[in-house]
Amino acid sequence: MARKKPHINLVIIGHVDHGKSTMVGHFLYKVGAVDERILKKYEEEAKAMGRESWKYAWVLDKLAEERKRGLTIDLGYFKFETPKYMFTIIDAPGHRDFIKNMITGTSQADAAILVVSAKRNEFEAGYALGGQTREHAILAKTLGIDQLIVCINKMDLVNYSEDVYTEIRDELARFLTGIGYKVDKIPFIPTSGLYGDNLVEKSSNTPWYKGPTLFEALDNLEPPKPMIDKPLRIPVQKVFKIKGVGTVITGRVETGVLKKGQEIIIEPLGKKTIAQSIEMHHTPLDEAIPGDNIGINVKGIAAEEVKRGDVVGPIDNPPSVVGAGKGSFVARMIVIWHPTRIYAGYTPVMHIHTLQVAATFKNIIRKYGPKGEVIEENPEFIAKGDNADVELEPIKPSVVEVYSEFPPLGRFAIRDNWSVTALDAVAGQSRDGAARSSGSYQGDQEELLRANLENFQSSWYTVGAIDTQTFFPFSF
Ligand code: GDP
Repeated sequence: MARKKPHINLVIIGHVDHGKSTMVGHFLYKVGAVDERILKKYEEEAKAMGRESWKYAWVLDKLAEERKRGLTIDLGYFKFETPKYMFTIIDAPGHRDFIKNMITGTSQADAAILVVSAKRNEFEAGYALGGQTREHAILAKTLGIDQLIVCINKMDLVNYSEDVYTEIRDELARFLTGIGYKVDKIPFIPTSGLYGDNLVEKSSNTPWYKGPTLFEALDNLEPPKPMIDKPLRIPVQKVFKIKGVGTVITGRVETGVLKKGQEIIIEPLGKKTIAQSIEMHHTPLDEAIPGDNIGINVKGIAAEEVKRGDVVGPIDNPPSVVGAGKGSFVARMIVIWHPTRIYAGYTPVMHIHTLQVAATFKNIIRKYGPKGEVIEENPEFIAKGDNADVELEPIKPSVVEVYSEFPPLGRFAIRDNWSVTALDAVAGQSRDGAARSSGSYQGDQEELLRANLENFQSSWYTVGAIDTQTFFPFSF
């Protein structure tokens, strides 16, 4: 397949109800990614319910539904083009587990659109401590999304006021600077997702605004730096058993190149196989490069054997496995928020590439001060705001890599929002060694863990990068 334009993966972030779905639906319609007839149908459905303004938000929900019904491999992605780039929206708002996907999904995104409502009370709600405007921005930055576009949205509700726009822009600029963004590179676009202002055409309602439209801002992004020269790594997203085809592993190539017919190894499974065929968006490929979201048909491996969070690599440079007796790793981390203290022995859930796994703090090695200087060796605990080197060990064999070599596989978030009881169940199992010897949770505990993951409400995170010199420039 000819590769015409560089590919950029986008996530849409922001507080609930700030207009993400409406904006994305309207934008996709305006750039021709949604058929007029389909929109007409949604419009009628929405009208019948007396909610005409829903039609754009429905574009996302309905397309997701229809794709699920119609296709064997549903990657759930939306695509569009600008003059310079091909875009894929890898996480659309409106999905119920949007926030959960943020943690695993953002590590794959090259850029984010942050949607912030200009409406009084809504702006404040998203921006208050614990609000999603704040949380999502911190998470995006920490997981390596350096390119951000801010839409100051629902401008129709504030009479397209320049004063309101300026006030919100300045406030956000201060906050984004504090978490490490270079704000002079960030466009702050006054938009109305509902009426379409400044999405694609410049709006006559905002004559005072001289910056780019959303479409132009997307076209002005920097293409992601190719990680093509590194060894191959593909974290597994989903595995399908397809009639007449066999096992198909889907995921995004993070580093390196996968060639059709290449011998590969899947870790921590430890099995070798051959990439019989590769396809992207239903088109066969001879080779896949970083950024490609692909399906790989493999032989000799049952779909049930491979799990989300496993990693595909070349046989001469297999992905690194730690955990459950196979070793631990050292990471620099920042405690963004935590209700109490983190001691050695604590076992929260770690999110890294597409993997979620419980991991134990084996050791808190040293604590750093605000300028990056060592302030304490072997501290007893760390708490909110602390920056420290820690030693972690996943309770199951897991692929992690060094951040400087494989950035997308070397940064992680940990979180732990469930009840103390559930936490003890997992931690207790890791202490008595059962998880180590079996390499997996026992049934009821896995159920418990899963139930808690489902309940995840974006409550709190601590983030880090593995064995890296990077210092996250957070201010607290
Ligand atoms: P999400 O939760 O961020 O995806 O937000 P939605 O797109 O579902 O929008 C939330 C509510 O705000 C809905 O009632 C929308 O109709 C409304 N809304 C979204 N964008 C705009 C806008 O630009 N102007 C106005 N007036 N309302 C909007």
